[in-house]
Amino acid sequence: SGPGEMGRAYKVTDNNPEVKKQIKDGWDKHAFNHYVCEKISLHRNLGDKRDQECKARKWRKPLPDTSVIIIFHNEAWCALLRTVHSVLENSPGILLKEIILVDDASTMEHLGSKLTDYVSKLKVVKIIRLRSRAGLIRARLAGAREAEGAVLTFLDSHCECAPHWLEPMLERIAEDNTRVVCPVIEVIDSDTFAMSLTTARAVQTGILTWSMGFNWTPRKPAGGVRNDAALPSATMAGGLFAMSRDYFYHLGSYDNDMLVWGGENIEMSLRIWMCGGTLEIHPCSHVGHVFRKRAPYSHPGGSDVITHNNKRVAEVWLDEYKEQYYRRVPRARTIDAGDLTPRIKLRKALHCRSFKWYITNIYPDLYATPKKDILYSGEWHNQAREGKYCLDSANPDGKIGVKMTMYVCHGMGVNQDFDFTRNGEIRHSYVKELCLQPSGNSVVTFAC
Ligand code: UDP
Ligand code: MN
Repeated sequence: SGPGEMGRAYKVTDNNPEVKKQIKDGWDKHAFNHYVCEKISLHRNLGDKRDQECKARKWRKPLPDTSVIIIFHNEAWCALLRTVHSVLENSPGILLKEIILVDDASTMEHLGSKLTDYVSKLKVVKIIRLRSRAGLIRARLAGAREAEGAVLTFLDSHCECAPHWLEPMLERIAEDNTRVVCPVIEVIDSDTFAMSLTTARAVQTGILTWSMGFNWTPRKPAGGVRNDAALPSATMAGGLFAMSRDYFYHLGSYDNDMLVWGGENIEMSLRIWMCGGTLEIHPCSHVGHVFRKRAPYSHPGGSDVITHNNKRVAEVWLDEYKEQYYRRVPRARTIDAGDLTPRIKLRKALHCRSFKWYITNIYPDLYATPKKDILYSGEWHNQAREGKYCLDSANPDGKIGVKMTMYVCHGMGVNQDFDFTRNGEIRHSYVKELCLQPSGNSVVTFAC
């Protein structure tokens, strides 16, 4: 009956001004409700809520052991330690080689000697301290270098593992070490810390957009496949996955020239599929993750860093399709992507397949109008307004039924970029593949 037990929500009822201030300070510092995070036990029990088919399964024995790598930069105590304890308390001891915490140059006091002392009492947990801010890609690489387990399992520092989260992933890898497996990522609400419950039927898999963003889509096929069968996924969300250590290095680990945050999940997803591996999500493995609306930490280098990372993905992996990326993110054309030769060499050495193969076989819904079918593309100028105003789709989420507007032409493409195709469609494909159609006195988006 304790706060948040069984993954329940914790709602604050106390209206005391002091409590309100603490809550506000917590949001400012961590971008989640830190007051609630602290109220919930570091050992909260989530219950075993897996599908029947998963509960009935006997997992293969023996399974390979794993090193769980948790990287963090200025993480809250409650979030970090609940992640650690949930791993310790929900993993069979024989499978858990170690937990490696990688401190990416945190500055918060509780992450200093207090953490060192706490962790020294937990047998299989060790800490690596990075002296200067490395960013999440290099921090994961630092953790992987120290790992001794046969499988590397990566987690964010604000996760909670559900019972038996590990066995399904390790079994898939034991059968074939070119499989990279993600758990079902459950949402831990950033305000109440309630944890969602996704049944196998409702599992979503990963997709990508032409702007090199990640997104979710309902599983395919919706029926027919057993509830305890792993589902192929075109991309991974990023933070949470398990991969054979040998295969991780065989496949070129991570792109060491990617900075701070972003793009590495798409890079790894394309690399896995195009270079002979498989990426999947196991509906029997559940791990919660606190989704935040903003990053609570600084981004050295600003938003250009993400574009730098994404441009590296486009340049190395997209072949002739990279133009699709540049059309969505025109400012990427002028951003420095750094030295690409090591990654291009890697792609050659691994004899990877083409991006065309990937969008034909792995993610056919990533549609691109063939060049020969595009009659015109670019901005639509409104002659009635001296050509200074352009058709504009203020529609960042790619929703259907959104009205088009007019906005000063900005020449940057993106929401003013349209294709006019041979069969008479006006396509607008910034985040999703959308077409335009009349609706009353307006023009709205609809699914092509
Ligand atoms: N992180 C890090 N160094 C950084 C940025 C992030 O170690 O420079 C860690 C962060 O603490 C978290 C993980 O990387 O454990 C993923 O970052 P975050 O959770 O902010 O990404 P999101 O889940 O929001 O995509
Ligand atoms: Mn995260």
